[in-house]
Amino acid sequence: MEIANKVFIVTGGASGLGAGTVRMLVDNGAKVVIADVQDEPGQALAKELGQRYVHCDVTQEADGKSAVAAAAELGTLFGLINCAGVAPAAKIVGKNGAHSLELFQKVVSINLIGSFNMMRLAAEAMSANTPEPTGERGVMINTASVAAFDGQIGQAAYAASKAGVAGMTLPIARDLSKTGIRCMTIAPGIFGTPMIFGMPQEVQDSLAASIPFPARLGRPEDYAKLVHSIITNDMLNGETIRLDGAIRMPP
Ligand code: NAD
Repeated sequence: MEIANKVFIVTGGASGLGAGTVRMLVDNGAKVVIADVQDEPGQALAKELGQRYVHCDVTQEADGKSAVAAAAELGTLFGLINCAGVAPAAKIVGKNGAHSLELFQKVVSINLIGSFNMMRLAAEAMSANTPEPTGERGVMINTASVAAFDGQIGQAAYAASKAGVAGMTLPIARDLSKTGIRCMTIAPGIFGTPMIFGMPQEVQDSLAASIPFPARLGRPEDYAKLVHSIITNDMLNGETIRLDGAIRMPP
């Protein structure tokens, strides 16, 4: 499976793991629609790489359709990489920073329902593709988190949303198997992106120290390499793969 000349949508493509994935895809000759809500960095990256940027809030069906329509102008959509996500921490009870119902719904809406919204729209477009000689019509890769299996204090909403992403991967892969569309999920550990750089330095250091090997924060390139492997290996389907340097965080 060649990446060159294939069309991809990367949600959350303006920053962090998504931006690293956009760079990898473009380096391999793909055409990419960067779909994000951060217009300025999204447009700047698109301009730098000669690609398309679309304002797309993944929770909105109309925005998802705009991203799919932008991809259709570049060719037939082959891949969706769902990187859009938010990770606000809040304890379940407490005077300060408690999980409000609204916050819980927002996190689930973006991380879980937003991923599903983009997949259903993308799968519809991909199912019209002429299949590859292997029968493949497309691939969709979601981003969960190790929090899906090992959630920490303050991560109730985040862990629930990411467990949902991991949970829907296999049934969606099975649903779509007859159309030749694969569905995979990556569950990253701790990656050096704006999501983590916003934390105090001592927290970042202790997170890096909890990664046995390679004893450093993950990099967007590490994530992008796994995306590349998944795209190019059609035996990978329906799985959630941890990408975490064997991290086991203390509770
Ligand atoms: P990031 O904050 O750098 O990037 C997230 C991107 O998602 C941003 O560009 C943001 O604008 C976009 N986004 C947020 N809400 C959106 C919405 N409603 N519609 C469209 N775009 C939206 O963070 P990152 O670390 O690159 O995170 C990428 C993904 O990886 C997220 O799903 C995150 O939960 C997951 N993840 C990150 C880590 C980590 O350690 N960085 C670990 C595990 C999982």
